[in-house]
Amino acid sequence: MPYTAANNRYGSMIYNRTGKSGLKLPAISLGLWHNFGGIDKPENGRAMVRRAFDLGITHFDLANNYGPPAGSAEETFGAILEKDMKVYRDEIIISTKAGYWMWEGPYGEWGSRKYMLSSLDQSLKRMKLDYVDIFYSHRPDPHTPLEETMGALDHAVRQGKALYVGISNYNAEQTAEAARILKELGTPCLIHQPSYSILNRWIEGGLQDVLDERGIGSIVFSPLAGGLLTNRYLNGVPADSRAGGPSVFLKSDQITENRLRQIRELQEVAEARGQSLAQMALAWTLRGGKVTSALIGASRVEQIDDNVAALNQLAFSSEELARIDAIASAEQ
Ligand code: NDP
Repeated sequence: MPYTAANNRYGSMIYNRTGKSGLKLPAISLGLWHNFGGIDKPENGRAMVRRAFDLGITHFDLANNYGPPAGSAEETFGAILEKDMKVYRDEIIISTKAGYWMWEGPYGEWGSRKYMLSSLDQSLKRMKLDYVDIFYSHRPDPHTPLEETMGALDHAVRQGKALYVGISNYNAEQTAEAARILKELGTPCLIHQPSYSILNRWIEGGLQDVLDERGIGSIVFSPLAGGLLTNRYLNGVPADSRAGGPSVFLKSDQITENRLRQIRELQEVAEARGQSLAQMALAWTLRGGKVTSALIGASRVEQIDDNVAALNQLAFSSEELARIDAIASAEQ
């Protein structure tokens, strides 16, 4: 079916300014790490991207290695763009990244200028794009001078192949240094992409302060802890879930009795707020306005609907926050 975007797509989404930049991102963005690969059903991915855009999700996050196989999520997304979204390109923020293993030999991963710029060219080809909106260094490279990796990001912008640049998985110190180098080069660091959720709070130990001080935005990945912070596993491990499938990033043995008890307790707090657990988990990452966007994954359209409705109830009482902290800090 040909696609025309919903007329009311900008009616209810919240758009947050990314750090001190001119760019606004939706409070909820969609990532294509899982469920958009060559092994997945393309029509399902297409339906999710369409629904997301209809709900005001203007930002789609990719990386060179998303699939499996690596590269196939960019191909899937490129095909969706071509079929459905071409006329909306100026309404969409597309990001990709380079850092993890992509091809054989010494130039297929990490942070050299050779790898970063070759990888971006490959990503553009797979997505059939002239430029991406945000190009990231996906992880810090301990063996390449940071000047070289940041220089590659700066060069991508000067080539017109990226509009903005970001970093992902850099700690507070590395971020401060990367931001300094990028500033000197004249291409400010737009955004950081770290993991963050009720169960994973590492960014509160310094990184968030660095981002605030330097006016860098943040888009947090795995805000639902890959699906743990949802109702997905309350009655066992469904065969069509991440933990039930081939992903090595969430395995069924991580869903212990203690973990389930914790999830059930969090679910009770969510219910008392009139939310699903997924909605509360997303609202929690956005509380206080520090995070620009919560970067979700999804395996079906209904999950996107459920998650966007989190924006109807973003406020927390101090009692709710204290209860969530107490549950989250329980021994595992
Ligand atoms: P989430 O924590 O949002 O987990 C997504 C999974 O949770 C879905 O696949 C689905 O699991 C389940 N889910 C989502 N919504 C609901 C709902 N409402 N009810 C029940 N279950 C739900 O994020 P991801 O771990 O998928 O990461 C999101 C994105 O972040 C990635 O796509 C990628 O773009 C980015 N990322 C970046 C990384 C980096 O190093 N920079 C690393 C990892 C991710 P199921 O499939 O079982 O249905």
